[in-house]
Amino acid sequence: MIRLSFELDRMLISEEALQSRVKELASQISADFTNKKLVAVAILKGAVVFLVDLMRCLDPSVELHIDFMAVSSYGASTQSSGILKITKDLDVDVKGENVLLVEDIVDTGLTLSYLVRLLQEREPSSLKVCVLLDKPDRREAEVQVDYCGFSIPNEFVVGYGLDCAGMWRNLSSIYVVKERGELA
Ligand code: 5GP
Repeated sequence: MIRLSFELDRMLISEEALQSRVKELASQISADFTNKKLVAVAILKGAVVFLVDLMRCLDPSVELHIDFMAVSSYGASTQSSGILKITKDLDVDVKGENVLLVEDIVDTGLTLSYLVRLLQEREPSSLKVCVLLDKPDRREAEVQVDYCGFSIPNEFVVGYGLDCAGMWRNLSSIYVVKERGELA
């Protein structure tokens, strides 16, 4: 029998590079929403670290509110199931609001395109999408990303909020994960 395990392979994006890019994204968002109310909707759990760093860099002139949604995700596998279930919905009504959807990573695009459609149905005044990482190679559904941190190759990554079977969210840099098969 072959037992699969995961290990960190190499660092892809350093803590310094993450922090500096998050500041740049926050400046763009601040410029677009100066003196406006903005509801940032972060997708649990992967986007939490990104949201926290991003919001601390936003200009005080942005009237920022935050809320969270959770969808079913990869679980212990590194492959997307394509199956989506809302496991936690918003607490606030976003009708007439400026909404910023904050997501950790866009891969096939299935998650974000579903969430964008869902939020559009709630009639926000505007809806923008902010993702930390973009893996363009595996795109199946088109998504318009308004603020993007980094474009990365098609590799499974962890750290800075992103996990692999619940592990490694607490790393402050982003690492590529290697799958290892061992004879058990
Ligand atoms: P999509 O629906 O675009 O294929 O996938 C989006 C979701 O898949 C992300 O929110 C994230 O939860 C997960 N995902 C995609 N690629 C990776 C990856 O490289 N690492 C981790 N940890 N999650 C990923």
